[in-house]
Amino acid sequence: MKHKSKRIVVKVGTSTLTNELGNSKLRTFEDLAMVLSDIQNMGNEVILVSSGAIAIGVQKMRLPEKPRELRLKQAAAAVGQCENMFLYDKFFGYYNKTVAQILLNAEDMVDEEKKENLVNTFQALLEQGIIPIVNENDSVSYTEIESESKLFGDNDMLSAVVAVLCQADLLVILSDIDGFYDKDPRLSKTARLISRIETIDENTYKLAGGAGSRRGTGGMRTKLEAADLATAQGISVIITNGKNPHVLYDVMDGKKVGTLFVGKPRD
Ligand code: ADP
Repeated sequence: MKHKSKRIVVKVGTSTLTNELGNSKLRTFEDLAMVLSDIQNMGNEVILVSSGAIAIGVQKMRLPEKPRELRLKQAAAAVGQCENMFLYDKFFGYYNKTVAQILLNAEDMVDEEKKENLVNTFQALLEQGIIPIVNENDSVSYTEIESESKLFGDNDMLSAVVAVLCQADLLVILSDIDGFYDKDPRLSKTARLISRIETIDENTYKLAGGAGSRRGTGGMRTKLEAADLATAQGISVIITNGKNPHVLYDVMDGKKVGTLFVGKPRD
């Protein structure tokens, strides 16, 4: 059966890319590169939004723990971003794919001219069969790292903004959990996975707990906000577990995976 080609944005979080020791999970990087390359080989367009820079930078700089000081966090982001891209470049390179780094700030989205340039850059990269890898420009901005009233909040929101900007068909948020539950499964054994959500409202937000894992940042709330933004623009969103990136094959086959937030019809 031939797939209709799709433009998909895949977001992967820190807790998927690093282990409890704060080290990179090389197998996840490798699997992700293989599966995304394969999905592109099937005729689809792929954009990856990847977190993990600070955690990986902290480990590379041999800091005893995640620093509290902003300037050190930003230094760790600069070191970790480099390491992240090195790993992606290497693993995607095995599959003969070229990747490109795009670092964004919230302010870039407000300025119309910058926004247009950005859309053109994405378009040019995708036309060339290149896989853009996006992250917030943490060494310059502080929205993801510090601010309480954050625009991107973390890369969940950034991934939705990118999906809207690039008029993607689908946004897949890979997390450390199988999907969206009726309560935080880490706090309640009776939590049940919700496989399909048509409308995100106040009650949905009440089901999301606070910030997530120690290494992750946003928790489910920022994922819901991201899903809210993307679905309002007609883009369906899937939240699923990133521990096995092969799950993306099932996503592309339209199989029931994780939680699907149904995109509103576009007018
Ligand atoms: P990532 O690094 O993948 O973005 P986060 O740690 O930021 O991951 O967010 C995922 C976490 O959100 C889960 O591990 C879970 O503890 C928490 N969470 C809170 N409420 C819910 C919910 N209703 N359903 C699923 N997970 C939830």
